[in-house]
Amino acid sequence: MIQPDNTSSGHLWAEEGETVVGPVASVAPVAPIDKVYTFRVPEEWSASIEVGQRVRIPLGRSGRLVVGFVTSLDEAAWKTTLKPIESLVDPRSYLNDELLALGAWMAKHYACPLGRTLAALVPEAVRKQAGFRKVEYVRMVASLDDIAAAGRVGAKQRAVLDAMADVADAVDLATLRERSGASRATVKAMVEKGWLSLDAVKEPVTPPDFDEPIDEPDFELNADQRSAAERIEQVIDDRAFRVLLLYGASGSGKTEVYIRAMRHALAAGRQVIMLVPEIALTTQLVQRLARRFTDVAIVHSGLTGVERSLTWSAIRDGIKRVVIGTRSAVFAPCPDLGLIVVDEEQEPSYKNLQAPRFGVRDVAVMRASRLGIPVVLGSATPSLESWHNCSRLEHYALIRLPNRVRDLPMPKVVIADLNQEYQEKSGVPLLSRILIRRLGQVLERKEQAVILMNRRGYSTVLLCPQCKHVMRCPHCDATLVLHAATHELRCHHCHLRQAMVEACPNASCDGRLVRVGGGTQRIEERLGQLFPDATIERMDSDTMRNAELYRRIIGDFEAKRIDVIVGTQMIAKGLDFPHVSFVGVIGADTRFSTDFRAGERMFQLVTQVAGRAGRYRSAGEVVVQTEEPESAALRAAVGHDFEAFAAGELEIRRRTNMPPFVRLARYVVADALESRARESAGVLARAVQAVVTESASGRADVLGPMPCAIARMRNQYRYEFVVRAADAGTMQAVLGGVGDRRVKLASRSVVVDVDPLSMT
Ligand code: ADP
Ligand code: ZN
Repeated sequence: MIQPDNTSSGHLWAEEGETVVGPVASVAPVAPIDKVYTFRVPEEWSASIEVGQRVRIPLGRSGRLVVGFVTSLDEAAWKTTLKPIESLVDPRSYLNDELLALGAWMAKHYACPLGRTLAALVPEAVRKQAGFRKVEYVRMVASLDDIAAAGRVGAKQRAVLDAMADVADAVDLATLRERSGASRATVKAMVEKGWLSLDAVKEPVTPPDFDEPIDEPDFELNADQRSAAERIEQVIDDRAFRVLLLYGASGSGKTEVYIRAMRHALAAGRQVIMLVPEIALTTQLVQRLARRFTDVAIVHSGLTGVERSLTWSAIRDGIKRVVIGTRSAVFAPCPDLGLIVVDEEQEPSYKNLQAPRFGVRDVAVMRASRLGIPVVLGSATPSLESWHNCSRLEHYALIRLPNRVRDLPMPKVVIADLNQEYQEKSGVPLLSRILIRRLGQVLERKEQAVILMNRRGYSTVLLCPQCKHVMRCPHCDATLVLHAATHELRCHHCHLRQAMVEACPNASCDGRLVRVGGGTQRIEERLGQLFPDATIERMDSDTMRNAELYRRIIGDFEAKRIDVIVGTQMIAKGLDFPHVSFVGVIGADTRFSTDFRAGERMFQLVTQVAGRAGRYRSAGEVVVQTEEPESAALRAAVGHDFEAFAAGELEIRRRTNMPPFVRLARYVVADALESRARESAGVLARAVQAVVTESASGRADVLGPMPCAIARMRNQYRYEFVVRAADAGTMQAVLGGVGDRRVKLASRSVVVDVDPLSMT
């Protein structure tokens, strides 16, 4: 249990008053304040209040009500002036001691106030009547004759009446609006005229249920899978903390091993959590998995607060035994957790992008270590962190699945060197000759292809060849991207959209803008010109605006109504199509990236998308277009050689003193005034340096400050500096020391990202 922080407890309010003995609670507010306060527990709740419960408390002189978490409960002597908890938010606690301790570790490690950190562990507070939602029913209360007699009916109201014609009794307002296109105001107006009635009803919400019949395949595990499963099962039986890295190419049967291990833990009467990355196709993958178990809880970002609360309660009460989900599923309040599985452990989507900026894999490992249970990390391209840990930490073990299940050879990967196709006038071509030729052959054979282009839009730069004017975002330090499909220019950093222009906006210039650099739209257009008979679809966040569109395109592709899909990285992950025999990768270049993980990301992406080729019948072929054919990461991807890649990349990281050999924390200070951002970053960096000199000399250093790679975003100037520490303990000590100093800054926007994924 977390102890109250005595230096900052109730003294704020302890002025006068009698001293009495009674129940008090320490509460961590969900606010940017890193303090725990003491409050009196009113008599009526003293028997029922729980540690971990959310409560409302008055804060500061103004007595402003804020939500906080009870972190401990005690009997203590207090003055009668001590303020009481104002009200309870949750009917019960979602946090047990184990999760509270995990939250306390996260708060320290990720330098985020405790209350705010705990808020990430539980479903958002559901106001009264959790488990119910309000549904508004509409009924006709006047006859059509009466309505006609009342005079002319407007078009919108007419549409509502038409939609009501099919309704036997009542229809809910949302459905009616969908069918008629009418607004709530239109319906309200008709209610006021006495034509319709509107009744609000509270209806219970049930959590999404996936307890369908078990959908078992009929094969047995092969020898490699069996031995992998047995090793995991042994650790489950030993009730020991171990990190087991299950390393095998896509199609090597990792998922089947997870399922076996999960069943073993369930058979021992324990609960299991399986984490999957937040990708568009999560629901498909998750449903396939869910059908292999009973009592499954599904957790993903699309759940409403109510659904999540109900799911959390069912897990806490042991009704749901298997939790499958994205990021927040790692906090499922399982009272008897026996195993955590993290699929695709290297995935960037496992990093939380808001405070607390936690990495799910690391939280899963920490949770498993506290519970003394195994955690299985699975990947075809493990993170260098996990890979490196296998050779240096005793509690890590590497388990290999060396072969693909169906004995399919790995796809053949060919590099298309764009430099060889360079032309004086037009520069490097968008599509290489070899890619065009191979794609043509594939289409002739009536097979399917996937083309990966990791930039959306049409062109990334609009340039005037006469005056060299480049179209830039007025709010960000970035060029505007042309989206030809919607005739727009967009900034990919803020939400700016403006109409497309053809002429140079420079008043003294009569040039016409040219389009430089390609995105998915341009590739789609070019392929359409080259292969007019092929059906080509684009899949990026511009076209995949909802799950329905996504399902439709996947269905069409499966049914071979589409020949080629052009898309961003969302097509690289998890898709499993039997007729794809060709994959093209466009723009596999890292040389303009300042990110130390750029090589690693490229290797992962090429490997993942290559895995889409020839999963069933033929081996498949991959063409990777690049302007840097000599890149070591690319060469390793061509040879399907993760281990060679890892060895080379780790050597670079060791030489340059970067993760996994050190820990990083990145501070970003932003301000509308450039000078103030620079100065605040300087003040803060000096404070950090002072802490380092005092308490971590020789084990940590500070790099920067300097302007961020995107030096201005949404009108905010951004400066960054990076703390580098020899290990996590040193980093915690430094960040804690900086927090204690409470440095006053002119700029209020300061973000700390511990274990950052990227530096942009
Ligand atoms: P991974 O997770 O490593 O990509 P999967 O577990 O999804 O691999 O397996 C790839 C494919 O092979 C799946 O369609 C799966 O049903 C099938 N499969 C897995 N194990 C076996 C096995 N032992 N025998 C036959 N097919 C298998
Ligand atoms: Zn912008």
